[in-house]
Amino acid sequence: MTTSATTAGSVLVLGSANLDLVVTSERHPEPGETLIGGDYSEHPGGKGLNQAVASARAGATTQFVAAVGADSAGDVLLGVADGAGIDTSGVVTVDRPTGRALIVVSASGENSIVVVPGANTLCPTASAIDTDVLVAQLEVPIEVVTSSFVAARDAGATTVLNPAPALLAVVDVIVPNEHEVDLLGGVDALLASGVGAVVVTLGERGARVHTEGRVTQVDSLTVDAVDTTGAGDTFTGYLAAGLSEGLDLVTAATRGCAAGALATTRAGAVPSIPSRAEVDAVSGV
Ligand code: ADP
Repeated sequence: MTTSATTAGSVLVLGSANLDLVVTSERHPEPGETLIGGDYSEHPGGKGLNQAVASARAGATTQFVAAVGADSAGDVLLGVADGAGIDTSGVVTVDRPTGRALIVVSASGENSIVVVPGANTLCPTASAIDTDVLVAQLEVPIEVVTSSFVAARDAGATTVLNPAPALLAVVDVIVPNEHEVDLLGGVDALLASGVGAVVVTLGERGARVHTEGRVTQVDSLTVDAVDTTGAGDTFTGYLAAGLSEGLDLVTAATRGCAAGALATTRAGAVPSIPSRAEVDAVSGV
């Protein structure tokens, strides 16, 4: 067996802290129904707090940036973090209830969960970055994650993103461009997390539609591109509108590609978005 000599580093975790309220029940209640539950327990949770505790347990000097409410749940969560040896000076107390997850576990083991983001919606940006690694999830506002990652990059820290399975599991279609898809862990990982389909936009090469076991290439139009700003947004808007009409995903992506291509032929974002008539004239859909 070999061992590697390493020096413990520092990790800043930005993310959610929740108190999970768990009740067991023979079955899940119907709408309007009241059931008598069985056991009740409360557990500290939230992906941010979980990961901070894991990082501290792994031996890293760990800071946590999060928001809790001025209530007993907030005190419990701060106590858990402090008890794990985490630096909680970046945890702010805000005027919203501490995040909670209300979880009903049925006898067959199925969970139904209502998450109350509460204070997590006011999670602050991690701006004073003094750490080797910053890790975040998507249970706090994405703007906060983005600005924290920008600050971390500027400070030379490694940035780690753990997209929330709770979010991905309720995504039917995710539309990253070819750079973003790697940031999100790749097509296979996204499909494995429960996303229904991955549509990767590829600039002038159009888009690729991935569903479980099937990949379809959709070509774009050949155009004289002058400004690609807003092409991805145009693609996504047209794709969504196509799905709303009942188009299948590949056909909706075909129309999206035509729209995206036309958007590149004009300057600006909103001003470059083509009309439906313009798209219909060239898309073939
Ligand atoms: P983003 O702007 O998000 O990076 P892309 O550059 O992949 O997204 O563009 C979105 C869509 O716009 C593409 O799928 C494609 O249909 C169209 N598009 C973008 N650039 C061009 C181009 N140079 N020529 C033709 N179509 C393009």
